[in-house]
Amino acid sequence: MRIVLLGAPGSGKGTQAMILTGQKNVPHISTGDMLREAVSSGTRFGRKAKDIMEAGELVSDEIMLGIIAERLSQADAADGFILDGFPRTRQQAIDLDELLDQLGVPLDTAVLMDVDFDILMKRLTGRRTCSKTGKLLNIYFSSEEEIAECLNAGGELIHREDDNEETIGNRLNVYRENTEPVVEFYRKRDRLTMVDADGPIDVVYERLLDAIS
Ligand code: AMP
Repeated sequence: MRIVLLGAPGSGKGTQAMILTGQKNVPHISTGDMLREAVSSGTRFGRKAKDIMEAGELVSDEIMLGIIAERLSQADAADGFILDGFPRTRQQAIDLDELLDQLGVPLDTAVLMDVDFDILMKRLTGRRTCSKTGKLLNIYFSSEEEIAECLNAGGELIHREDDNEETIGNRLNVYRENTEPVVEFYRKRDRLTMVDADGPIDVVYERLLDAIS
């Protein structure tokens, strides 16, 4: 399976990718996670990336291509991958096609996780990660039991630095400007599959499985 998961910030593509990777035995490659790792490692590149991410802007296409080319050439990606957060610009989509051509492994499909903008806002501003279990939670949508489970395990609800309202507004604008052309890129080439991503996680997951089967 070689797929790209597309969707605005908060569309749930990260959550769905995590379930899919566990069940299909292909790596979940999230450029956001890779960049956050670089930030926490404190390298010079990490410090630069931190400023860009906190502003909700995009890291340059050239740097992203280098990161993704290196990651896709690793052994665990030979039999497939789920790309999450890449491509995010039309240029990155072109670069990815060229890269996969060189590797001789064409993409199966690009899946768009489709959700209304106001739901996205609540999902993003309410999003927390449990410091103990790593579970993704939401102060608006998670049940009291789920939140208590984290707190009782001695965990804290961590708010991502780029999940504040100003950054979120900017990230959604950046998505509209840069990533919607990526959706069009795949749509025009008949390589886009739409998934209604509004609903409980397991229901959306079933829709995703249908879409990629
Ligand atoms: P994410 O976790 O996918 O929302 O990514 C968090 C941040 O990392 C984004 O807001 C961007 O600043 C940066 N980022 C992640 N993937 C890319 C990409 N493909 N191109 C440029 N910047 C990216």
